[in-house]
Amino acid sequence: MYDVIIVGGGPAGSALGSFLSAAGIKNMILEAANHPRPHVGESMVTSSTRVFKEIGFLEVLEREGFIHKYGASWHPPTGKEFAIEFAEFPQEGIDQNYTYHVDRSKFDLLMLKHAEQRGTKVYQGVHVKQVLFEDGRAVGVRAMFGDKEVDLQSKFVVDATGRNTLLGNQLKLKVKDPIFDQYAVHAWFTGVDRGNERTADFIHIYFLEIERGWVWQIPITPEITSVGVVADKKVFRQSFSNQEEYFYTTLRTNVMAEHAMRNAVRINEFKVEGDYSYSLSKFVGNNFLCVGDAARFVDPIFSSGVSVALYSAKYASERIRVAFETGDFSEEALKPYETRMRGGVGIWYEFIRLYYKLLPLFTHFIQSKEHRLEVLRLLQGEVYDRKDVPVLDAMRKYIESVEKSDSHLMKSRLTDIPID
Ligand SMILES: Cc1cc2nc3c(=O)[nH]c(=O)nc-3n(C[C@H](O)[C@H](O)[C@H](O)COP(=O)(O)OP(=O)(O)OC[C@H]3O[C@@H](n4cnc5c(N)ncnc54)[C@H](O)[C@@H]3O)c2cc1C
Repeated sequence: MYDVIIVGGGPAGSALGSFLSAAGIKNMILEAANHPRPHVGESMVTSSTRVFKEIGFLEVLEREGFIHKYGASWHPPTGKEFAIEFAEFPQEGIDQNYTYHVDRSKFDLLMLKHAEQRGTKVYQGVHVKQVLFEDGRAVGVRAMFGDKEVDLQSKFVVDATGRNTLLGNQLKLKVKDPIFDQYAVHAWFTGVDRGNERTADFIHIYFLEIERGWVWQIPITPEITSVGVVADKKVFRQSFSNQEEYFYTTLRTNVMAEHAMRNAVRINEFKVEGDYSYSLSKFVGNNFLCVGDAARFVDPIFSSGVSVALYSAKYASERIRVAFETGDFSEEALKPYETRMRGGVGIWYEFIRLYYKLLPLFTHFIQSKEHRLEVLRLLQGEVYDRKDVPVLDAMRKYIESVEKSDSHLMKSRLTDIPID
């Protein structure tokens, strides 16, 4: 009998395992895959550093030589580069001015091993079929160990199954995002021209002249670069018959992206991600909660996913600790976790919506003396426990003024994204 069964050993599940073991709460991770396994989501934001430090994982990241990410760079189709460096805005509790780009198969394996070293019992290759309930409370899981179906009991269950959303599906809690229906095709390449030395190891985002379209360029090793093309799914449906054509044709709508890829050689298969924005109608219930992508997923334009996974693990562990201290595992007792996560991810979502509403506004704001640091603070992932975010109000006001004007230069760039 374990105190907590964590279903899923991605960043959220592994970080939670590390936190719970440190708190003396006996926990087990059941992971369907056998790591190392590939995964999308290779670029971090700096707020993640705080959590890595807390669970003692920073040393591992340094030891393994993951690429240091000092900033981010945006390329509108016009060809001009706009870059930010994290060093411009030091963050409380973080004493390095960079974060990391990672090969997720290696990173996720290391995170899982780290949790194991700190006391988590880890089973890989174990697919959990369902969470078991009695009298409205989660009491364990039904899992496949090889071809054997086994029921395991626990006082508490955590869903960390990522976009598989085990509990979201089982309890019909999943609500598809009303706005975003993005479609991504990505692969690894050698021979990508990463541009000038100062920004070569930044993440590069190229804006495309298609609906909600952009390209990511993420250095994975000195030689290998991850490149992904993202756009509204209907762009793919309406105009393309295969992924390769979609990838190259849309990428070429930005001359800088085309230039960066002129000598690139693909070294693995194209992978596709679709239908990925949603939220669960609740993140917690009696004796269970959901962390990371299993709770909510927002568009990845600002590389927020792993940071959200890590912070949800941190905040979930704090609430679970209180529950074990008080003996109260009720939905009500767990609600503060949900409120905190909804607040943080809600800020990311708002930022993303305003970004897509009027693309030139983002580059305008990161160049403005008045707003640059506040935008940077968001890009670093400082979104939790904030009462207000004045820069989002300022973005909203600016958009309203463009909407009202007949002659504003940005008027034709407004999209139909609702921002009310
Ligand atoms: C196109 C795209 C680009 C992205 N880019 C970035 C980026 O640059 N930076 C960033 O930070 N994030 C990015 N993300 C998001 C990032 O991939 C996720 O937010 C992150 O991986 C979430 O971690 P997690 O632990 O919640 O879930 P996951 O990493 O998905 O881990 C879930 C684990 O659960 C296991 N599992 C699933 N079902 C079961 C089951 N039934 N039983 C047992 N185990 C199970 C899976 O095998 C998996 O290992 C991107 C996402 C997309 C779609």
